Amino acid sequence: MERIYDMIVLGGGPAGYAAALYAARAGLSVLVMERMAAGGQMTLTGDIENYPGIEAVDGITLGMQMQANAEKFGAQTEYTEVTAVDLAATPKQIDTWTGTFYAKTVVIATGANPRALGVAGEESLVGRGVHYCAHCDGRFYQGKTVMVVGGGNSAVSDALYLSHLAEKVYLVHRRDTLRATKIYHAPLEKAENIEFCYNSAVSEFLVDGRVIGAKLRDTKTGEIREVACDGVFVSIGRQPATEFLAGQLELDNAGYIVADETTKTSIPGVFAAGDVRTKALRQVVTAAADGAVAAHFAEEYLSTL
Ligand SMILES: Cc1cc2nc3c(=O)[nH]c(=O)nc-3n(C[C@H](O)[C@H](O)[C@H](O)COP(=O)(O)OP(=O)(O)OC[C@H]3O[C@@H](n4cnc5c(N)ncnc54)[C@H](O)[C@@H]3O)c2cc1C
Repeated sequence: MERIYDMIVLGGGPAGYAAALYAARAGLSVLVMERMAAGGQMTLTGDIENYPGIEAVDGITLGMQMQANAEKFGAQTEYTEVTAVDLAATPKQIDTWTGTFYAKTVVIATGANPRALGVAGEESLVGRGVHYCAHCDGRFYQGKTVMVVGGGNSAVSDALYLSHLAEKVYLVHRRDTLRATKIYHAPLEKAENIEFCYNSAVSEFLVDGRVIGAKLRDTKTGEIREVACDGVFVSIGRQPATEFLAGQLELDNAGYIVADETTKTSIPGVFAAGDVRTKALRQVVTAAADGAVAAHFAEEYLSTL
């Protein structure tokens, strides 16, 4: 049989490399599997300003630093895509584009990607007025006008968060009522700078080098109107990267791996860290913290074998 690693980490974002750092530093043999580039979602953003101790850093640099940090202590990286897993097997089996790998413990840190609107030009406008994370990028819109698209809890919570920073917030929802739970309704009513655009969907971005507004289509009448704004925050949910886990682990309705602060999953020796697990706040700092916790409990698990 091939080499059996103490730990294989699926995903090379902040959660994955934090797990690799802690585990490698504790003397475990660790392999990180990454299908694109170190850093995960961080590579999609310019300045990260809310990682404690770092004034501002671009996501690509922080990702490369996290990788270098873990590799300094002996972690290795395999650039490949994980296609299937057998987590109940002994050792645990990971199938990838570049072959099959084996490990005593597995940390799943494959993240979750924000759902896009699917409006023309959206991808090229990311960072130039199109955003998917209010807590990350809201600060750039102090005193400005923003649009939040969505009608669920995260859209409403984003709109409330932005209402404290921006001068005006349009909340655009394709139905005539919000899906958000009642707990949000009272603060929404109090927020005088939030304007509701019901039965509305973004049909086009208005662009002059960057976003300067959006065309909204009335979902009932088809009528189009233009709304000026400095930025659009898309908040229509996230898609966890768990497709390769089918039937292996307990997932919630949205596809997130069910795991609490211990990062332990329904299978002993398998841990879920970062955005891929059920949690309240998906950020770099919480992902990195999960990675450290996963490594801690992986070590504990290994000591029982
Ligand atoms: C545009 C944008 C801006 C953001 N700005 C900030 C910010 O300013 N501050 C902040 O704290 N947070 C920010 N975030 C959120 C933050 O980036 C995430 O919370 C964090 O990256 C989650 O880390 P993670 O390691 O759990 O997952 P991810 O970062 O998603 O990393 C997962 C990794 O797994 C890999 N992967 C997935 N599936 C497979 C597979 N099958 N095989 C192999 N590899 C796989 C992916 O390629 C990816 O590299 C931002 C997010 C976005 C999208």
